[in-house]
Amino acid sequence: MDPSSSEKPPSGPRVVDVLVPVALDRAYSYRVPRGVELRPGDVVSVPLGAREVTAVVWAENHDPDPRLHNRLKDVSEKIEVPPLRAELRALVDWVANYTLSPRGMVLRMCLRMGEHLGPERVRAGVRLAGPPPQRMTSARRRVVEVLSDGLLHGKSDAAREAGVSVGVIDGLVDEGTLAVEPLPKPPAPPPPDPAFAKPDFSPDQDKAAALLRAFVARDAFQVALIDGVTGSGKTEVYFEAVAETATRGRQVLILMPEIALTGQFLDRFAQRFGVKPIEWHSELTPRTRARNWAAIAAGEARVVVGARSALFLPYANLGLIVVDEEHDQAYKQGDGVHYHARDMAVVRAHIAKIPVVLASATPSVETEVNARKGRYARVPLPSRFGGQHMPQIETIDLRRAPPPRGRFVSPPLAEAVRYAVERREQALLFLNRRGYAPLTLCRACGHRFSCNICDAWLVDHRFRQRLVCHHCGFSIPRPRQCPHCGAEETLAAIGPGVERLQEEAAALFPEARTMVLSSDLVTSVETMRAELSEIAEGRVDIVIGTQLVAKGHNFPRLNLVGVVDADLGLNNGDPRAAERTFQLLNQVIGRAGREQGRGVGYLQTYQPEHPVMKALVANDRQAFYDAEIALRERTLYPPFGRLASLIVSAGDRSTAEGFARKLASVAPRDEAVQVLGPAEAPLAVVKGRYRFRLLVKAARVVDLSGYLRAWLAGAPKTTGNLKLEVDVDPQSFL
Ligand code: ADP
Ligand code: ZN
Repeated sequence: MDPSSSEKPPSGPRVVDVLVPVALDRAYSYRVPRGVELRPGDVVSVPLGAREVTAVVWAENHDPDPRLHNRLKDVSEKIEVPPLRAELRALVDWVANYTLSPRGMVLRMCLRMGEHLGPERVRAGVRLAGPPPQRMTSARRRVVEVLSDGLLHGKSDAAREAGVSVGVIDGLVDEGTLAVEPLPKPPAPPPPDPAFAKPDFSPDQDKAAALLRAFVARDAFQVALIDGVTGSGKTEVYFEAVAETATRGRQVLILMPEIALTGQFLDRFAQRFGVKPIEWHSELTPRTRARNWAAIAAGEARVVVGARSALFLPYANLGLIVVDEEHDQAYKQGDGVHYHARDMAVVRAHIAKIPVVLASATPSVETEVNARKGRYARVPLPSRFGGQHMPQIETIDLRRAPPPRGRFVSPPLAEAVRYAVERREQALLFLNRRGYAPLTLCRACGHRFSCNICDAWLVDHRFRQRLVCHHCGFSIPRPRQCPHCGAEETLAAIGPGVERLQEEAAALFPEARTMVLSSDLVTSVETMRAELSEIAEGRVDIVIGTQLVAKGHNFPRLNLVGVVDADLGLNNGDPRAAERTFQLLNQVIGRAGREQGRGVGYLQTYQPEHPVMKALVANDRQAFYDAEIALRERTLYPPFGRLASLIVSAGDRSTAEGFARKLASVAPRDEAVQVLGPAEAPLAVVKGRYRFRLLVKAARVVDLSGYLRAWLAGAPKTTGNLKLEVDVDPQSFL
């Protein structure tokens, strides 16, 4: 090797290493065509097999292997978009390394800019430019009239205004009456105005806002936790951090767990800043996606509100990340790259040396521990805005006050709902179960309807008149007859879902207007937003909903929340079961009594003495966290230890089990690492694949990703239809 080669101007064609957005970890070498300048971060188009793909220059290659040189392909073209900054490339490398995903798959999340890459298509305009046409028709006359102002009009706009087809316009262009010119690009939307409508803060909010402004002004990596009860005005307060960042001319990313639910949020943002923020989620049209991506990369999009995938966008000068409802499970991606958007937001902020604000009424145990240890700055909002009280919470012991046979609402809860409806307040019946009933059973022969390809019952969905598998989507029409014994009229629905609850509510309160909110009944973001505002406007008396209703909404007339099955999430073998249940129930009851009157929450439970129920009733968050943190510390569960899960699946049981055993047997020995299993997964079969799990439990100091990488490097490879999924920091244990 010639040590001076990197200083000399390159003699032959230069070579760069390009990362392609496919399941590959390595960057591949390509030659740079003469006359093209390329640097790391540049977006390019390269041939990959028979395809052309959009990819990114990852490094200059000063020392390509001369033997390969003639076999290298050329970069096809440089794409005229801003380069991916070093900060984002470092994030891609970091996330790939941590999650054990191919770097190309992480890069792919940065390049989701839609079909039309590059500058937006130029729209054609027309202007009156020549003599009238030889043959004048009434349609042509209308066009000439519309364009008589001599200005440039959009071609399709002109056709619409004149009430003619575009063909008529084209005819006039052919005759030389009209000239075609490109329309100028529409101006970028005005940026959010930090001074548009400053709110009057309560003294608590004032203090918190001042803390946050100072926090942002330090312009360094640091994490703050806005720790405020439901209804304390966390949003208004973090808007001050947004305002401060915007004033400094930097971009802000606000992450939300469920972007479909943010209709109210967009309005509140507009009330505060005068314009709506830029949105990023999976339901954007390709055109909007392309435009938003470009605006973000150019730095024109000042504030972006997005789902977890927005974390990987190429911000030009990101200055702040806000993670709202930071404890929410939806931040963890369950397939592909298994990343946790809250944790990776902290990583991105660390790389970019910018602040992060986390907000929650019920922080994750991980975040709570970081705040207690002083690693995160706590910004408290201890009471509700406007002097509203926290809801009063009571348990209803289902052993003492059971619902009537075949019903699910106990007499005391029914009484409370009746009272609320009479007073023209809203009530919410919460049940985290979609559909009508989780199980259908033949009373004659005991046959239970289950999925053909999953280890799961089929859920009765009466609105759709089908029995549906919640794991793979398989469904059959609702049968009249038992397929096993042939009996008719013997099929019974077992257990409640929200649809069945609505039936019960309608029977109990025939005068009341009811509405079911459940993700499977929502056809689009738009209908979802419309239904939520119907509730907010008070056009519904009883809302029946799944966790969809728990998140972040303000329903001014809602004062009563009844949790139909408070025990539902407690007994499922998930190490976070208690934490999850506490968070979900706190959040859903927190919908009550936010604006007027006193909120009340009822928990129907068989275990009123459970620590989660007791903490909720006593409104004693500290007690819950103290107990949960002590338990995690004792058992070395996160954040006091690290976890990873390895899920092996195959088309038949013995192949999956055999491979999982082999894998376990070659795990490197390490005092600080425990490999548990393999054990059959709780969800033993999904989509015809048999699943086995290994759980890796390591001390906090262990580099778990490094351990896993070394292990897998020395392990047998998956072949045939065997599949191995690695999940570092798993959130799901199914
Ligand atoms: P949280 O997110 O903490 O549950 P929100 O931010 O949704 O609470 O605020 C609760 C309600 O109080 C909202 O309707 C919000 O508009 C209102 N609110 C909060 N702070 C103010 C304020 N300073 N001035 C006026 N209304 C406020
Ligand atoms: Zn299935």
